[in-house]
Amino acid sequence: MRKLLVIASLALFAVISCCKQPASEVTIKADPVIAGALAQVSADSIETYINDLVAFHTRHNLSTQTDPERGIGAAVNYLVDKCEYWAENASPDRPMPVVEVIRYDAGGPGSRLGREVNLPCVMVTLPGTIGSGEIILMAHIDTRVADNNDSTSFAPGANDDASGMACLLETARIVSQIPLEQTIKCLFVSGEEHGLLGSQAVAKIAKEEGWPILAVINNDMISNAVSSETNLETIDMVRVFSDSPRGEDSDARQWARYIKECAATYVPGHEVKLMYRNDRYRRGGDHTSFTNEGFVAVRMSEYYENYDRTHQLVREENGIAYGDVISGLSVPYLVKNIRVNMAAAMSLASAPAKPEGARIANANDLSNYTVLSWRAVADPGAHYEVLYRETDQPVWKVYGSYEYDPSAQLQTAKFPLSKDNYFYAVRSVSEGGHPSLPSVCR
Ligand SMILES: [Zn+2]
Repeated sequence: MRKLLVIASLALFAVISCCKQPASEVTIKADPVIAGALAQVSADSIETYINDLVAFHTRHNLSTQTDPERGIGAAVNYLVDKCEYWAENASPDRPMPVVEVIRYDAGGPGSRLGREVNLPCVMVTLPGTIGSGEIILMAHIDTRVADNNDSTSFAPGANDDASGMACLLETARIVSQIPLEQTIKCLFVSGEEHGLLGSQAVAKIAKEEGWPILAVINNDMISNAVSSETNLETIDMVRVFSDSPRGEDSDARQWARYIKECAATYVPGHEVKLMYRNDRYRRGGDHTSFTNEGFVAVRMSEYYENYDRTHQLVREENGIAYGDVISGLSVPYLVKNIRVNMAAAMSLASAPAKPEGARIANANDLSNYTVLSWRAVADPGAHYEVLYRETDQPVWKVYGSYEYDPSAQLQTAKFPLSKDNYFYAVRSVSEGGHPSLPSVCR
């Protein structure tokens, strides 16, 4: 196999021997199509969505589904109308988007919901042009105040989670004009505040029907910039939570690193903080429903939370403004977090499949060389990148780039690094420079 990009070995060893600096992020080559899409993210559109969603007064899971102006039913109709409009006006160069309402039964004995109810989720599918994989961006529709069964008080949920829904709406609007190889789905779930009910229902259907899900981002609270009590503030950092249930370097963690790389390339200066835990301390979210069904799923959330706003009745007390209203949000921050979502989803939707069967081929040899092998992907234009990182480092670096070898049964790479001192992975990269998720070599 011919190595395309050989990092001069002397320079490499110079770097390794003085490896005091943390591993730098892998840089994905920027695609002008993706950069152009990100430039279209509009603060005005986002503010309009959130104001519209807040105007439904409450989106509580037990709120009315028949009132045209109030409650979760009106909010669902709004989401359907918006997505259907974009589907009908989608670019003729791409397969037409499809909007669906997925309903499920919830509540009853043992449930946190006070009564039985049939609840809707909304999904818009932006089909890929050639691929069979899909990337899901998710957010939740429902809101609550302190009393979990109060279905009539004003519960605006501007941050929790109209901010996440604004991300999905803006993605659907923009991506409806852009053909991409793989499918992107925007999934609006209900039932989150009463036990992740909607995401569980959809994840179960996805498992039963064998949806070819590559990766999921759950966007839950992505627009608050200031911490309650401590008054800390940032619009330059966002958390991505990734679990590794069996203690291994999980696929969810590879997806989190991928999102971090995309942010570094497409939203410079905006830092994705890799949170090596399923979710915030003793709390959960809708990504876990997908993780539990065996899918690759992470959660994105703002860096600082404001507990005066989340799940609070809207009021003022001792000079403190309580409640999840739009004035509590940072729209510039939300714009950046939406761009990170879109960059990651569009990049993966433009990438070849990830290499299967990636492994350390000389696992049993006492050798200071490492040999990796993997099966070629179907895309003959793809090349491969070997990634490596020191065992205490959080992110991958690119070791080198390898061309497809049509004469070989298995693709291989041999290089002068110890398998004891680094972890390795391989990813496939499209002609346009879009990488797949990495396959870790074990
Ligand atoms: Zn939430």
